[in-house]
Amino acid sequence: MAIDFTLPPDVEAVRLRVREFMDTEVRPAEEKLRANAPNGEPARRDVVAMIIELRQRAKESEVWLPHMPVEWGGLGLGITAMAFVSAEAARTSFGPFVLNAQAPDEGNQHTLLHHATPEQQERYLRPSVEGRVRSCFAMTEPEVPGSDPTGIRTTAVLHGDEWLINGHKWFISGARGAGFAILIAKTDPDADPPQASNTAFLVDLPADGWEVVRDVETMAGRGNHCEIRITDLRVPNANVLGGRGNGHLLGQARLGPARLAHCMRWIGQIETALEMLVDRAEQRQLHGEPLAEKQAIQWMMADSAMELYTAKLMVLHAAYKIEHGLPFRQEVSFAKHHVANTLWRVVDRAIQVHGALGYSTDTPLEMMLRHARSARLVDGADEVHQALIARNLRAAYAESGSVGAATGDLEL
Ligand SMILES: Cc1cc2nc3c(=O)[nH]c(=O)nc-3n(C[C@H](O)[C@H](O)[C@H](O)COP(=O)(O)OP(=O)(O)OC[C@H]3O[C@@H](n4cnc5c(N)ncnc54)[C@H](O)[C@@H]3O)c2cc1C
Repeated sequence: MAIDFTLPPDVEAVRLRVREFMDTEVRPAEEKLRANAPNGEPARRDVVAMIIELRQRAKESEVWLPHMPVEWGGLGLGITAMAFVSAEAARTSFGPFVLNAQAPDEGNQHTLLHHATPEQQERYLRPSVEGRVRSCFAMTEPEVPGSDPTGIRTTAVLHGDEWLINGHKWFISGARGAGFAILIAKTDPDADPPQASNTAFLVDLPADGWEVVRDVETMAGRGNHCEIRITDLRVPNANVLGGRGNGHLLGQARLGPARLAHCMRWIGQIETALEMLVDRAEQRQLHGEPLAEKQAIQWMMADSAMELYTAKLMVLHAAYKIEHGLPFRQEVSFAKHHVANTLWRVVDRAIQVHGALGYSTDTPLEMMLRHARSARLVDGADEVHQALIARNLRAAYAESGSVGAATGDLEL
């Protein structure tokens, strides 16, 4: 039997280094930041100063850029190994940023690694992996459903050696302060299939014609998810990324691993919330015994433990499939849907067990819940993944009279 859940020693060494770095450097710095912030919401400049300082220590502690190849300054971990490391980093709020493995940069770096020309890599990937610039990925538009990217209205028209781009985007994470964007625009409106109508462009920022209208106010505050107005933006033809008409394909290729990277980070958050739940239930005395002795609380613990365990197995299996070049979209959809919903449920239960304290800003739980809500929308809303899962299930059954191929293809 080839199934082996032990970690190779080199991966385990990185995981332990990351865990120690989070415990000894990142968590204490975050606690200090929160303690000095009114209402638990630190000022942006204080967060940035903390991240810059911690990034230097991350490089010294050899935990910097775990997901990139060694020749690009990274630790060379594959996607399965990253599941362990990302979950460790995400047990803190800013851990992934400190390692330069945060969304959307991690996904953009992988996209550039696999789809950019050598010149584009030097110009955009190099400063990104060195932590000198941040980037953003601009696809979603307010006027058309993000769930159907073929409807994108931002247009790019070729004039000589330059593209002229006009359109409107929103919820572009990290846009304010980004050094470049990967922008998706429509170049071939009559393409057949319609998926071939979009192209990806590399856009140097700031740029004339790229206006950050606002940082959209959300239920989790302002998270640098920006609305962008694009007016007569000029982009050289050399900045087409991955070839004309390949914008949709590139988005899909980017989103598979990027969705899973989100899930890995969410697992770290779920585990943190569950540990807080258990800790509070053990400490709180009620009717002469710990709250943890109440069966209703034990059900919450049991449900959360089972859901977290399922989440871990789903993520590992999807990562294994990506790493081995096997079809992975069904498994990534399983994981994306399940982990996003588990995050929401477990943080909510942890708040419940904390009582009024959970509703206060004295613990990070309320902030975690507000952020968790977006997990069911980003990188494909729940229903998009359910639709895809059901489509694959029906196709598998129609083809073979079995659902096996669409339920993990595991031969059991
Ligand atoms: C915090 C945050 C960060 C984001 N960051 C980025 C970013 O960096 N770059 C970027 O380009 N975009 C980003 N987005 C946008 C995100 O990708 C879109 O919100 C998402 O794709 C959904 O698109 P939409 O909001 O237009 O909803 P719509 O497509 O209008 O969908 C609305 C609802 O319709 C339902 N629905 C959709 N499809 C189906 C279906 N097939 N069957 C049944 N029901 C369905 C779902 O309930 C869905 O929530 C971000 C969003 C958030 C909240």
